[in-house]
Amino acid sequence: QKSEWALLKDESTESLDGKRVELAANIGSPDDIEKVLTNGGEGVGLYRTEFLYMERNQLPSEEEQFEAYKTVLEKMDGRPVVVRTLDIGGDKQLPYLSLPSEMNPFLGFRAIRLCLDEQDIFRTQLRALLRASLFGNLKIMFPMIATLDEFRSAKALLLEEKKALVESGILVADNIEVGIMVEIPSTAVLADQFAKEVDFFSIGTNDLIQYTMAADRMNERVSYLYQPYHPAILRLVKMVIDAAHNEGKWAGMCGEMAGDEIAIPILLGLELDEFSMSASSILKARSLIKKLNQTEMRQLAEEALSLQTANEVMELVKNKIL
Ligand code: PEP
Ligand code: MG
Repeated sequence: QKSEWALLKDESTESLDGKRVELAANIGSPDDIEKVLTNGGEGVGLYRTEFLYMERNQLPSEEEQFEAYKTVLEKMDGRPVVVRTLDIGGDKQLPYLSLPSEMNPFLGFRAIRLCLDEQDIFRTQLRALLRASLFGNLKIMFPMIATLDEFRSAKALLLEEKKALVESGILVADNIEVGIMVEIPSTAVLADQFAKEVDFFSIGTNDLIQYTMAADRMNERVSYLYQPYHPAILRLVKMVIDAAHNEGKWAGMCGEMAGDEIAIPILLGLELDEFSMSASSILKARSLIKKLNQTEMRQLAEEALSLQTANEVMELVKNKIL
């Protein structure tokens, strides 16, 4: 099987009936790019920048960040690279930012909430990203967006920093797409409104599942509720993809679910445009998608959406496909 997959490294990802999708990788550092390329990644769908901030004792400077982003963009050589702005808090803490401990960290002061409050930290990252934008195909993504106001505020800061850079004579790409993670149910529900303002969505199922099912993704005792195939999750995913397409935008997924072989046929049927996963899952996913007929998967997805339990969905896919 491994050798069969290896032959697919330089191929595009297309279903039997010719539907093209993008298989991208999730990365945490520039060092991960080699693995992305050897596994046939068509892009980076999620660069988790928080690792630049972790395992050290002070904030990374604008220059350090610029170098990291530039390296990733250059190594990806024109392929799309979605960089997510700082997503700290929840399960990820910074030792040098003494944040008060919280009763419910996953519902607390994290990600974009923190960045909109600690604007110096956020603006530094935005400047580094803007400066790096000339070195490849950069897309910027904000995490944990719960309201349109948050998106508008984050985008306004980005535009302010861009204006300041341009005025000081620094070149910045002018075609940078700006999108959001859809990982909070409120945003999935209002996806039609967000789709008018964002350039793309990336569905973060790791968090979307925990917030939809109200089941902490780190808590073993409630892990039985953490159900990616639950029809409620599938319906939210469909709403997000449809909302994007109605406005001519694209929708990706960067949670673990995007690389899951039960989920992939359904996601193909729901017309997801980009699947971002760990690099080691890409060739297997490509091999699977090439064997699927997208028109048939649309019917499969419709059927899955009408079922009542995650188990029924799993059985459906196993019986029909695997
Ligand atoms: C997600 O929530 O699905 C996601 C990709 O982000 P993270 O796992 O970093 O929270
Ligand atoms: Mg998340």
